Amino acid sequence: MPTITIGWLYPGLMNIYGDRGNVLCLTRRCEWRGIGVRVREIGVGDALEPGDADLFFIGGAQDREQRLVAEDLAHAKREAIHTALADGAAALAVCGGYQLFGHEYRDADGTVLEGIGVFDLITEPAPPGAPRIIGNLVAEPLLPGHEDAPNLVGFENHGGRTRLGEGARPLGKVIHGGGNNGDDGLEGCVSGSAVGTYLHGSLLPKNPWLADWLLERALGRTDPGASLEPLDDTLELQARASAEHRALTARW
Ligand code: GLN
Repeated sequence: MPTITIGWLYPGLMNIYGDRGNVLCLTRRCEWRGIGVRVREIGVGDALEPGDADLFFIGGAQDREQRLVAEDLAHAKREAIHTALADGAAALAVCGGYQLFGHEYRDADGTVLEGIGVFDLITEPAPPGAPRIIGNLVAEPLLPGHEDAPNLVGFENHGGRTRLGEGARPLGKVIHGGGNNGDDGLEGCVSGSAVGTYLHGSLLPKNPWLADWLLERALGRTDPGASLEPLDDTLELQARASAEHRALTARW
């Protein structure tokens, strides 16, 4: 039986707004298909080897928790994560985790946290007086080959403004909401099999095609010929449509 290992980075510290639902969703979608799945929780101080995970997940958090994990991520885990990704592993990084998967995160107090540079981006604090970006977001997918997939939906809540480097690929084009920075109309970033996004919610249960995109890549690492059987996503797609409807009809 094919088996994948999900490496869940800092579940105790980087995990808000239902981010753990992404791990549950990935796990269930494997189980429903008879694919073996292990979840390995990886905390501050835990050793990490490149072969330890086929799919990394890191959720969001407030600046305090980001400070607590940033040094461990940048110094003790960076190399193993880069090696694993170069070797075909996949990754999903949400909000605070997404910011730390870029080059650096500067918070409102002027603290600079070094990121691990999976994504070519930096995150700056909101300009003085500018509000946090909070609300439901809808984005048209820009993943190559998936431009016709249903729009991504989720909930964002961040002060940081993320700017992609030249040539970095966005995950989506914002239809409603703030996205990376509230002004360039872009949301998230994709680099190889790594996806970064501001979307909480949880993200994957309402965007099942993205869950399968990640699983396909993770599975391909150990089982190159493997393909995923389609699942009945009626409920997931209803949840997606309802979230999209709420976002697009909200009165602010
Ligand atoms: N601390 C970050 C910010 O506000 C991330 C917040 C989050 O993960 N929700 O920009």
